[in-house]
Amino acid sequence: MDDLLLLKALAFAAEKHRGHRRKDAEATPYINHLVTVALLVAEACRKVDREVVAAALLHDTLEDTDTSPDELEVVFGPRVRGLVEEVTDDKSLPKDRRKRLQVTHAPLLSREASMVKIADKISNVRDILERPPARWPESRRQAYLAWAAEVVARCPKTGTDLEKLFFETLKNRSFP
Ligand code: ZN
Repeated sequence: MDDLLLLKALAFAAEKHRGHRRKDAEATPYINHLVTVALLVAEACRKVDREVVAAALLHDTLEDTDTSPDELEVVFGPRVRGLVEEVTDDKSLPKDRRKRLQVTHAPLLSREASMVKIADKISNVRDILERPPARWPESRRQAYLAWAAEVVARCPKTGTDLEKLFFETLKNRSFP
């Protein structure tokens, strides 16, 4: 396998998400989220599967940038493309419907896609607890946490500590 796969995925994600920011008051660069998700996946594996870590770096490219599935396949191969597609919402649907579909589709994910999905939710929950979106009232933050827990509870077991880490992160919430 390509030794440079992970650096290529990191460079690709950084370029595609250039100019994107998280929603916190400091407008943290979006790439921080992608690196966090990739590290969570890599640390959770006993033996690192580079294609899964690459998919973690790329997990928001189809949803939030002009990247096409074919482009991912040409650069990173069919497995990475498939994993990113598994964790991508259908943006043509209204937001509420997409959120419900994440819950109903969660059990259908492959084990590897489940790892990326849960790591994504860990990163998002951490951000909501530690550097919440500036414009989200507490009710919206709470609703996000409840929804994320519902998705993760329905994801296939990953055989790693990711699920445990997710629910521990949620338990350590700093507001009631
Ligand atoms: Zn994400």
